[in-house]
Amino acid sequence: MNSSRLPINIVWFKRDLRLRDHEPLLLAQKAGLPVLMLYIFEPSVMAAPQYDERHWRFVSQSLEDLNRQLLSFGVKILVYESEVLPVFAQLLSHFSIQTIYSYQETGLKITYDRDKAVTHFCKKQNINWQESVANGVVRGLRNRKAWRESWYDFMAAPLAKVDWENWKQADVSNLKVPDIAPKKLHPNFQPGGESYAHAYLKDFLNNRIRNYAKSISKPLESRRGCSRLSPYIAWGCLSVRQVWQAAAQSHAAHGRKFQHAAFASRLRWQAHFIQKFESEDRMEFENVNRGYDALEKKTDPILFDSWKQGQTGIPLVDACMRCLIATGWVNFRMRAMLASCLTHLLWQPWQPGAEWLAKLFLDFEPGIHYPQWQMQSGVTGINTVRIYNPVKQGQDNDPKGIFVKQWVPELRNVPENFIHEPWKMSAMEQQLYGVALGKDYPTPVVDIKAAHRFAREKLWSMRSDNAVKKENSRILKRHTLPDREAWASTQG
Ligand SMILES: Cc1cc2nc3c(=O)[nH]c(=O)nc-3n(C[C@H](O)[C@H](O)[C@H](O)COP(=O)(O)OP(=O)(O)OC[C@H]3O[C@@H](n4cnc5c(N)ncnc54)[C@H](O)[C@@H]3O)c2cc1C
Repeated sequence: MNSSRLPINIVWFKRDLRLRDHEPLLLAQKAGLPVLMLYIFEPSVMAAPQYDERHWRFVSQSLEDLNRQLLSFGVKILVYESEVLPVFAQLLSHFSIQTIYSYQETGLKITYDRDKAVTHFCKKQNINWQESVANGVVRGLRNRKAWRESWYDFMAAPLAKVDWENWKQADVSNLKVPDIAPKKLHPNFQPGGESYAHAYLKDFLNNRIRNYAKSISKPLESRRGCSRLSPYIAWGCLSVRQVWQAAAQSHAAHGRKFQHAAFASRLRWQAHFIQKFESEDRMEFENVNRGYDALEKKTDPILFDSWKQGQTGIPLVDACMRCLIATGWVNFRMRAMLASCLTHLLWQPWQPGAEWLAKLFLDFEPGIHYPQWQMQSGVTGINTVRIYNPVKQGQDNDPKGIFVKQWVPELRNVPENFIHEPWKMSAMEQQLYGVALGKDYPTPVVDIKAAHRFAREKLWSMRSDNAVKKENSRILKRHTLPDREAWASTQG
């Protein structure tokens, strides 16, 4: 080890890919030592079943955007592809690392285990690891009594502002940093980066928010009417505080009370859901209400595969899945319907479904995703069980079938009255509209009405089960706010 190692601090970027309102950066600057900023693409995390190339493309674009912004200050974020400990070990041979600054991560078990290994490493090497609170999610919380107030205080606090003109970068000229080629944009997906994040935010608050509430449930209209900020928030290109404060200013300037109120509740749900996962991370694997273990659902590979590939023969379900595969985003209602279709109508366990949609959602956020899956599949015991009828959802939210026809072109000539129930067409009508069911497009993999009845009876009978009821009181104490309905609505 080099005995004349210069003391430095490190800022370790994870899901916080921004330069503005970034507390670890500010703390590192205040500490006064030269700073080395880094991001590490971790092969073990990249290989986790919840992740896909689309996620790392987004991260790569985001890092490029940050380094582009930093160029004029002669500063750079170093990018590695490696497990984390070898990188820190390599840096230790060049520098005397004093403090690593990062955000707390409410992540999957794989990143939780990695963080435990980093804690152990830091202790051994006498390095201080200082983690900042992310988006108001509190570590080690036992109940939610004072949580709401602390969340509002967090959102109202001033944005962290770094003085880049006077940033002290550690001298990295002697370091061997692999040259990792940036990943190219894919035109179907939202582009990564802090600059795009702010552009989406501005456009939403100035224009698109007008149609927010009226388009939120509709698969087609929501693509413009919703904020589409989710990947930027999930990967930290924006902090929720930035969005919250910008929305408050926009409300003061433009009014639009109803739209702003609807948007503000979603921003509150962000941390509300992540807090559940932070407090009980076994939700990645197990039913939060252990009483539901008695359901003992088994995966049927054929049914599961039909759902995964958008080949169930239920047009809206297939359209949403194919749209997700191609673009990485559908709105809340359609996500809830996909989860409900798999776990209720197809009567499959939620775990493989959660893994598959995590892979497809560009905005995959473990802390929202897993608690949402628990809720939508009806295994919390404390939420109303909602079994979506995909035919009714189609008739209500895509009445002309425009969205369905875009993603299920096999049905492009089918008229409105059959578009959500093509199985009602006679053989002659199928011929007339150019689709042979069972050949060009599947017949439904389940009888929707019978499957709905079966799931409803099963799930409602569980509500009075003693094991379920016992878990309910535990879950209520741990995860819900004093007036839970105002925050934890399941609608969207
Ligand atoms: C089964 C299922 C899985 C989900 N998985 C994810 C996920 O992995 N990542 C993710 O960001 N969202 C997830 N959601 C929540 C929601 O569908 C998305 O946040 C939303 O559709 C993103 O679009 P938007 O940014 O335009 O949302 P907007 O309606 O404009 O909302 C603004 C922001 O509020 C937050 N938000 C909105 N709705 C919710 C909600 N119901 N719960 C918690 N936070 C919310 C998000 O950060 C979102 O970006 C999931 C929902 C379901 C039903």
